[in-house]
Order: sequence, then structure tokens, then C-alpha cells
Amino acid sequence: MSSSLLSLGISRAAHLLRSGEISSRDLTQACLEQIESLDGSLHAFLTLTTEEAFFRANRADFFLQQMRKGITPETTSPLLGIPLAIKDVLALSGVRCTCGSRMLETYIPPFTAHAVDKLLADGMVVLGKTNTDEFAMGSTTENSAFGPTRNPWDVARVPGGSSGGSAAAVAAGMAFGALGTDTGGSVRQPAAFCGITGLKPTYGRVSRWGLVAYGSSLDSVGCMARSAEDAALIYASIAGHDPRDSTSHEIPVPGFTPYAENSLKGLRIGLPQEYFLPGMQAEVENAIRSALAVFEKLGAEIVPVSLPHTEYALPAYYLLAPAEASANLARYDGTRYGINRPAAGYIEQFMSSRAAGFGPEVKRRIMLGTYALSAGYYDAYYARAQKARGLIRRDFDQAFQQVDVIAAPVAPTTAYLLGERNKDPLSMYLGDIFTLPANLAGIPAIAFPAGFDSNRLPVGIQLMGHAFAENTLLGMAHAYQQVTLWHRQMPGAANIPEETKEHGL
Ligand code: GLN
Repeated sequence: MSSSLLSLGISRAAHLLRSGEISSRDLTQACLEQIESLDGSLHAFLTLTTEEAFFRANRADFFLQQMRKGITPETTSPLLGIPLAIKDVLALSGVRCTCGSRMLETYIPPFTAHAVDKLLADGMVVLGKTNTDEFAMGSTTENSAFGPTRNPWDVARVPGGSSGGSAAAVAAGMAFGALGTDTGGSVRQPAAFCGITGLKPTYGRVSRWGLVAYGSSLDSVGCMARSAEDAALIYASIAGHDPRDSTSHEIPVPGFTPYAENSLKGLRIGLPQEYFLPGMQAEVENAIRSALAVFEKLGAEIVPVSLPHTEYALPAYYLLAPAEASANLARYDGTRYGINRPAAGYIEQFMSSRAAGFGPEVKRRIMLGTYALSAGYYDAYYARAQKARGLIRRDFDQAFQQVDVIAAPVAPTTAYLLGERNKDPLSMYLGDIFTLPANLAGIPAIAFPAGFDSNRLPVGIQLMGHAFAENTLLGMAHAYQQVTLWHRQMPGAANIPEETKEHGL
């Protein structure tokens, strides 16, 4: 029974919780047992919140019981009683928030991030905090100060990053869904590498309050789950205005409704030639082209489009994100948060605390960013990168006059072997080439499974939309998932019996 519970999606679990066939305690127990048996090798979690999880599960079961008696409890959200995981860059009051860094190894925030708070108010059972590249800087989780997470499809490989812990947890059935963050692809790329669905909302759609800042003009909180339908439930909970984040939008969040009969008739999908590069893995390109054929069968039309400034996304991002990071990370001065290396004066303490607290990639980004912002180089680097960002944004504006969404690969390859790229930062950065543009333009994008390569590693496809088009993206991914089974596959490592993958309980 307990392993078959793990293959349920959020919506099906919510249905069974309401009818009383299962309890939130059962679901929570099943996830914690799965964590117990797998996380020694996968290392998706940095901190477990077992006691809190059972407290919330019992409370959810009480609310569900009230509902069955006709009493309306505090929340009736479909997330009531559903076990979820949180990337360890989002604060949960009273639980340490490490950001994958020695700097914050013992830091316990006295507040809860807005997105996490919304999920708690909707009745989520919080399982724990997931592994991440240090301060979300990376693409594999190998930059975590606490050791990498492994990919449940092949433990010799990375799960992607920086939200690799969240992706591995969801893929391996250790959680029903998770929050990640996406500054340059960190929700979508690990979703693709682990064979799950990941939504990066429009910049400003989900409050960043309580998220430890990386690149403030790029950071977005995103949803990870095993289907678009489940991601939509998490999105509905966390999206919306929050006065504590000045970039948060006041535009109301419409409810998600699938396309009627899942027909995509009349929708136009743009295919940008700039996203199909020589040298990308042929199996990735083939999977994307097959997925497009499915979309055509569902009624959508494929239209070639051009995004001519795509090649500038990588250099622009790797100037702007480190520039913003160098400013954001100035607060770790050995006095206010985390590691403190007492020394003779403030400057000495600042230097020795940062030398001890930050890992090599974070130090590299601080140096790059400080350089790009320094007098004499600002115009040559930072200001030019901002101009390139403007051109990239304009490319998208123009393309969205012709099409509803843009389809592209999530990454040029499937998951890397551990150690394959982390000695060479440039080759690591190159893997982000297809995810960075959406962050620079501030637009929403979704990644979802579209096949496997010959090593049986998941391949993801990406759809990007104009600002606030999340429901179009979710609806299209959902329609695709009604006629394909890629998203229903679970890795062998998860040990979930074959027949239950297809039939629920
Ligand atoms: N891989 C990119 C980077 O290292 C993106 C990370 C992210 O989205 N947090 O900056």
C-alpha cells in the first residue's frame, strides 16, 4: 500500500483524502519511509522536518474529517494534507535555511517566505528543505557545500540544478511536489534532467519575500511536480500580490481550467531556429520534434519564428546575475548572519568570515560581478549587458505578436555525469543557454518530460509564453500529458511497483 501511494499525483491524492480512503498521515508516512530508504544515496534533503510534518498531517486529517461531516474547515484547498518539499533558499520559520552554504549552516530564520506561507495556509505538509547549489549558483547541485544530490534515474549523474534536491525528491516519490527557484533555469533544467514538470512563473507573479536573494531582477519562485495539473495546484496557491515585494504584480490570478477536450485548436507554437544548435544531443532534438508532432495532432499550428539576439543571453546573464549577486551577498559580513570569524577589526572579520563561509563558485561570481560593476568597466560590461537584455526582451515581444507560445529544448543535453562539467565553469554555463532568455525577458516558461535518450535519461521540452500566460503553458502541457505517458514514468531507483504507476492505487 505505502509504495503505491507514492505514485499518486496531487489531484488524485486530494480526491482520495476527501473520500477518506487514505489519510494525510499515510501519505506523510509513505514519503518519509521513501526518504529513509533512498535519501542516503540521493541526498535530496538537507533538513527534514519530520515532527512538523506529522503535526500538519494530523491537523489536515482533522480538517478532512470535518469536511466529511459537512463542516467547512480553515482551508479546503486541494493541497490540504499533501506532503511537499521546499528548496533551502526559502525561509521556513524556526528551521535552518542554509542555501547550500557553510555561510548559513546554522542560520535559523525567524520568518517564513511568502510562497511557503501560502502553501502552509493551504494545508501542505512540509517534509523538509532540499539541497541546492550554494546560493542557487550552479546547474548540478555539485556546488552545494553539503555534497551533491544524485539523479534518481542514474545515481552516477547530476539531477541538474540549482533546485536539484527538489527535482530529485519529486522524481523519486519522496515528495508529491516542491518549490524551487529559477534565476536562469534552476526550476526547468532540473525538472528536465529528472523527468518532472517545472513551472517558472512571470517575474513578479510570485512574491520573493523570504527568498534569499541571488539575482534580484531575475529570481522567481517556481513549482515542481509530476504533472502540469499538479504544478498548477501549487502555482494557484503561491501566485498573487504581496505588498512586501515591490516587484510583485497586482494583476489577479485566474483559476486554471484545462482546454476543452484538451483541444489546442487555434493555438500557434513558435519554433525559433536559434534554439536548435549544431552540437546539441540528437536525441534531445528528436524528442522535441516528436513532441511538436503531438501538439500538431492536438490542433496547434507550428510556426517558424526568429529570436535573433538569443546568442547574447549567455554573456548578458553571466554579467548581470553575478553583478546582482555581488551586491546581494555583501550582507554576509560575519556580523549579522551565519559564520562569524572574530578578528581585530570589521574589515578583517568581513574578510575571514567570507573566506571561510563561501565556496569557490560563489567567490568566482562575486569577483566577476564586482568587476563588471566597478568604475571604468561598468559601461563596457554591466551597461552593455543591460542593453542586450533589452534586445532579448524585444525579440520575445515581436515573436509573441505572431505566436501564443514558443517551444524549445530545456537544455542541449540530458543529465551530466557527476564531475563531468564542474571543473570547467564555462562548459557548465553553456548548458544554461536555452533557459536564460526567459529570465532575462521576465516571461513564464514550463518544462515537462518529452522522452528518453538511449541511456534512459529523461528529455524535457520547454514552452515559453508572454507575461502572465502561465495558464496557457500549464494548459498546453496538461493537454500533452493527457495523450502521452512520459510524465507517468518513475525511475527504477524509486522502487515503485510497475502496475501502480499506471493505475493509481
Ligand atoms: N545555472 C544558472 C546559474 O548558475 C542558473 C541558476 C538559477 O536559476 N538559480 O546562475
